[in-house]
Amino acid sequence: MEINLISDTVTKPSPEMLQAMFQAKVGDDVFKQDPTVNEFERIVADLFGMEAALFFPTGTMANQTAIKLNTNPGDQIICDKWSHIHLYESGGASANSGVNFNLLDGHRGMITAEQVKDGINDPSFYHMPMSKMVAIENTTNKGGGACYEISELQKIKEICKQHNLTYHLDGARLWNALVAKKQHPKQFGELFDTISVCFSKGLGAPIGSVLIADKETINRALRIRKIFGGNLRQSGYLAAAGIYALQNNISRLEDDHRRAKELGNKLEQCSWVEVVEPVETNIVIFSPFPHISDQLVIDRLKQKGIAISLMAKGKLRIVTHLDYRQVMHEYVLEAFDKIAF
Ligand SMILES: *Cc1c(COP(=O)(O)O)cnc(C)c1O
Repeated sequence: MEINLISDTVTKPSPEMLQAMFQAKVGDDVFKQDPTVNEFERIVADLFGMEAALFFPTGTMANQTAIKLNTNPGDQIICDKWSHIHLYESGGASANSGVNFNLLDGHRGMITAEQVKDGINDPSFYHMPMSKMVAIENTTNKGGGACYEISELQKIKEICKQHNLTYHLDGARLWNALVAKKQHPKQFGELFDTISVCFSKGLGAPIGSVLIADKETINRALRIRKIFGGNLRQSGYLAAAGIYALQNNISRLEDDHRRAKELGNKLEQCSWVEVVEPVETNIVIFSPFPHISDQLVIDRLKQKGIAISLMAKGKLRIVTHLDYRQVMHEYVLEAFDKIAF
């Protein structure tokens, strides 16, 4: 059995999703003539109670567009030190937009209103970069799938308003947070100026992210997407996968969360595991005892057909997803019991 738990991006379209893709009505989206893309953007904007949305090939491009929309070269973005936009977008924020970061020392990738407030530079003190944007990640990636309380996000919003900062949400895994915390997309739509969401992670589509904002912002985003080379033609085939995912693959995220919790519980009982971080959604981060190398754990599991990944030195990561079925889950739980060092 080959079981790939390195990420929730490894899922492949199901036969039903492929069927929906094959049947999509398409047109040239660069002329805004693809009916399925137009419908998808409408559905996503409405879901969040926002005015407009724009389809992107990747979450990175959607985030980079949000940054470019809201900043000038030299400006500063306030975010957690583990943010995807800082760590995993290949320096795009500085390459594309010439901006820099004030990296806050958050908890599991999450920052507080208090920290944001302290992180804002006085605009009259011209020696320091202009604080322009606050970027939140929910759920957190490197933070192990942790999710925010709405109340904290509201407090941060207040500070953004007081200081004229735009408020961006990197919601690549927002779907997981919505299910785990029983929240509604409109609660996020009310708060943020721009939101990016991914369809190619927990929701199981092969490609696709969407940026959501007001109409004026999305009109400007259209030009930036063009500059980034992200304009697609008959992308309705891809948008159809996104529509299918919205209709079929959200509530089942509970299964991923339950399995992740069960894996975490099992690891806690393993003699070779020192720490398991709290499991909130579909990501499990754990550390073997220091005398057991990360690579050794990865290799032992590989021998049993189970792939997991290295998150940082001494920290291993497991991500559950749509293609990780119950039979595989039972096999992995047993494998954890069987390996010894
Ligand atoms: C995966 C991810 C993205 C976007 O990734 P792409 O591979 O470019 O689609 C953005 N933010 C977070 C937190 C992610 O986990």
